[in-house]
Amino acid sequence: MPVSPDAPRKIREKLATGRLPRDAPPMTATGPGTGNLCDGCDTPINPDQMQYEFESSDRRFIRFHVWCGLLWEAYRREANRA
Ligand SMILES: [Zn+2]
Repeated sequence: MPVSPDAPRKIREKLATGRLPRDAPPMTATGPGTGNLCDGCDTPINPDQMQYEFESSDRRFIRFHVWCGLLWEAYRREANRA
């Protein structure tokens, strides 16, 4: 089930504008959502969805739906190659 059809576009844009980090996170955690907004697709991560979260190297706290986290992983690698 796709979380949001806009997620790929939003995540690419946020990587391009620096709103999402391009660095690999030092440590990540996963768990059930807490209703907070996903930093990828800007929709809430509900308790019945899995959340992927980490603190970026510039000390921002980032959280994603697991699906959005996977997209971010793929796109940040792509961005770092460019
Ligand atoms: Zn999301």
